[in-house]
Amino acid sequence: MPYLQIDSQKFLHNHQTILNTITPKNPEKISIVLKDNAYGHGLRQIATLAKKAKIQNAFVKNAYEALEVAPFFNYITILYPYSLPMDSAFKEALKMPEVYFCAPSLESLHNYPKDTKIELKVNSGMHRNGIAKEDLGKAFEIISKKHLNLKGIFTHIGFGDDFGSEFYTQNKEFLEIKQESLRLCAHYKLAKPRFHSLSSSGAFRAKDFHHRLPQDLQDDLFRIGIAFYGYLCQDSAFAMPNLQPIAALFAKKISTLNLKSGARIGYSGASALNQESAVSTYDIGYGDGLFRLREGMEILSTEGFRILPRASMDCISIESTQEEVCIFNDARVFARAFNTIPYEILSHLHAYIPKVVI
Ligand SMILES: *Cc1c(COP(=O)(O)O)cnc(C)c1O
Repeated sequence: MPYLQIDSQKFLHNHQTILNTITPKNPEKISIVLKDNAYGHGLRQIATLAKKAKIQNAFVKNAYEALEVAPFFNYITILYPYSLPMDSAFKEALKMPEVYFCAPSLESLHNYPKDTKIELKVNSGMHRNGIAKEDLGKAFEIISKKHLNLKGIFTHIGFGDDFGSEFYTQNKEFLEIKQESLRLCAHYKLAKPRFHSLSSSGAFRAKDFHHRLPQDLQDDLFRIGIAFYGYLCQDSAFAMPNLQPIAALFAKKISTLNLKSGARIGYSGASALNQESAVSTYDIGYGDGLFRLREGMEILSTEGFRILPRASMDCISIESTQEEVCIFNDARVFARAFNTIPYEILSHLHAYIPKVVI
């Protein structure tokens, strides 16, 4: 049985680094992003650790995730409420006082029943989800008319990783959105919603910019995902905070063969041995969400054993006889080999891979 080991000490270490660097005086501003099974780490396991760390706010993908983590947090926002059918879970979530729903368009405001607690998403330059800044007034009109319960106004800053001025242009744009929102709240006699805009890399970068703003224009939350899991994918020009990957993926041996020099292994014999060697198969493959190793890719296990292309759906061959092998304890090894980011390697791991928290 393969398993994903989650190191609770490393999680707490990352939390401390995040707190100390981003907002040491207001720890309640740190929220955790748990979408997509906590980036493949296990929703429940990470929610449990977050609760121990006294984190009060979480962001999830859908109603199922919201219901699962509801006991752990004071407030949970569903980022993609309509990514699943509007079934019983959705309706149940609607009734829960601690669950907020993202409204990414004017149309979505019409879909929610009266009193739904919503967080309005506004475009600030990433041009992805969210209403246009010019439509803020219209959104407030609908919210007021439909008696929706406006809990938050937020945006997503898409340039946090990149060296350049676009990041600050977007921050300024959101600042104007906040000012306009405050005017509209006063006009419609609505309580001030909470403001948030920054994910991991942006929060590390914009903390000073933020702390200099007047109190009511500061962000109330930072939405931290990848940094909790131990990574940051920013431009190398920025200082790298001390974060530690919390997950290590292990697989167990299925069988071993002692093979002669020249033996070819797996589909199409893609790997050939240039000396006599023992090769074992281990019980994880691309069917479990691990990316498919193929010809030309050189990846070593954490112990330094060669993982032999091609990977199969349910197993991989490794030049090792150990009962158990650590496939990675840092997803960047796979991310580099597959020319992608740790987010993709991690969130691909199937939810049913058992989690062992140490
Ligand atoms: C995924 C996500 C985040 C977290 O981003 P990280 O880079 O993992 O910190 C924050 N906000 C929104 C809206 C997201 O979808």
